[in-house]
Amino acid sequence: MERNPADSAALRVVIVGGGTAGWMCASGLSRLLDPSAYSLTLIESDEIGAVGVGEATLPHIKIFNDMLGIREAEFLSETKGTFKLGIEFRGWGAPGDSYVHPFGTFGEPWGGVHFQHHWLRARAAGVPVAPLEAYSYAVAACRAGAFEFPSEDSKSIRSTYAYAYHFDASLYASFLRRWATARGVQRIEGQVVEVACGGESGLIEAVTLKSGARVEGDLFIDCSGFRALLIGDALKVGWQDWTPWLPCDRALAVPCERTADFTPYTRSTAQEAGWTWRIPLQHRTGNGYVFSSRFTDEGRAREVLLRALDGPALAEPKLLRFSPGRRELAWSGNCVAVGLASGFLEPLESTSIFLIQGAVTDLANLMPKPGEGARMDPRLANEFNRLFAIQYDRVRDFLILHYRANARRGEALWDYVRTMPIPDSLVQKMSLFEARAWTPDYKYGLFARDSWLSVLMGQGVVPRGYDRLAEGLSLADAEAHLARLKTRIDANVAAMSSHSDFIANYCDPA
Ligand code: FAD
Repeated sequence: MERNPADSAALRVVIVGGGTAGWMCASGLSRLLDPSAYSLTLIESDEIGAVGVGEATLPHIKIFNDMLGIREAEFLSETKGTFKLGIEFRGWGAPGDSYVHPFGTFGEPWGGVHFQHHWLRARAAGVPVAPLEAYSYAVAACRAGAFEFPSEDSKSIRSTYAYAYHFDASLYASFLRRWATARGVQRIEGQVVEVACGGESGLIEAVTLKSGARVEGDLFIDCSGFRALLIGDALKVGWQDWTPWLPCDRALAVPCERTADFTPYTRSTAQEAGWTWRIPLQHRTGNGYVFSSRFTDEGRAREVLLRALDGPALAEPKLLRFSPGRRELAWSGNCVAVGLASGFLEPLESTSIFLIQGAVTDLANLMPKPGEGARMDPRLANEFNRLFAIQYDRVRDFLILHYRANARRGEALWDYVRTMPIPDSLVQKMSLFEARAWTPDYKYGLFARDSWLSVLMGQGVVPRGYDRLAEGLSLADAEAHLARLKTRIDANVAAMSSHSDFIANYCDPA
């Protein structure tokens, strides 16, 4: 007999897929929702497995782990994690150059004017200033290979940065699986072979497993990865293809032995047809080459990747295929797509796990109430989809900027991306920066002022003007301010532990 959800105490949430997205959904929702009002079931297939990459994160992940009550030292030991203060970009502006996109600020605002305006004004007036990166605490710590926790005292220069982690994503998913199942999430091992949608309503009623078992639900979360079993195969929700702006569509990934260069940052190095990543973990270094099949072939990509390793490879390179873009809607009917099922942006700024976290938080806030029935209030879905689009579209523009602002002349991929038409939203941001050194200052979504500043300046986009309010401060004061700031940064960084010493002392013994 058909069950009427309005008569039941709990709303049945069924999560399909147990990769990072599935287990972040399961653990986040089980922590945030009332267990007497929601039942959570996760289906995953051992036979299919998870994508098994995704080692670099953004500082928001700490908020997620803290919300779950996870002990950081235990988490780092379990996932072989390390600390991350930013990303070094090598050769992105032009061959041989290097800049860091830090998890921290450049300087501090004075007199209500952002730092870059004071720095640009001083430089234009002939004051001898250091390069912009010398005024960022996080960049200085990266360059020194050092790590300490940020200070909670907002007057301290050590309060001007945040940190994230590098970790083994498969170990993180297993860690969350133990966490969630210990708190009542029901795990079913099995392969979904059929999705049953109800006649006119088009809502998903149940999924059927290879074993013949049928799992019914009120709300389905599609975490099935690139397969997108529910949102794509069953519901046929459209896909926005961003290949014309982001031509990379393949990656080769390979771990190598850990080397002495144990950086507290991810490294991204521009290559002839894409870029290679380097991510230091406690037990190994993760590496990969993200490339465009339009501009190179797999054999050549393999050569480039293996040449970029700084230690012996520990496995054969693994090939992954993807298309950049996102679903038109992440929430359709009673199905919400999270993770790779909802969209993919290359890992240039380590954004995928953050996008999962954002979706979990937004979904928890907009979660239908038990008793509202399977016919969901469309206002919830509309709002979720609005936020989803903001998140993806803002990251997209930021990634395109890295490609667009390059001076690597004579290489087919780089010549193409430097001259390709770009979204109007990015044209506007770049022209405001060029005119007045203005950078976006979002309250929702990723990549605000300092992030744009680091990439634009790092890749040689030099603004013609600055905010005239900077002239409210005398030049002599500005010069003294800049000098004091740099001295404070240098002195504090010199007193920090090395990243490897910090890890050895902090993590739980293996
Ligand atoms: P998956 O990990 O693919 O999980 C899908 C799940 O669905 C699996 O459990 C699978 O068994 C299950 N499933 C599939 N079909 C069925 C079925 N029929 N029945 C039952 N279960 C099924 N993100 C970052 O944040 N930082 C990074 O540094 C980063 N690097 C990346 C590098 C590359 C090359 C790629 C491709 C991605 C990277 N990502 C990164 C993204 C990151 O890997 C994903 O966002 C993350 O792993 C989440 O994946 P997922 O859980 O959506 O999918």
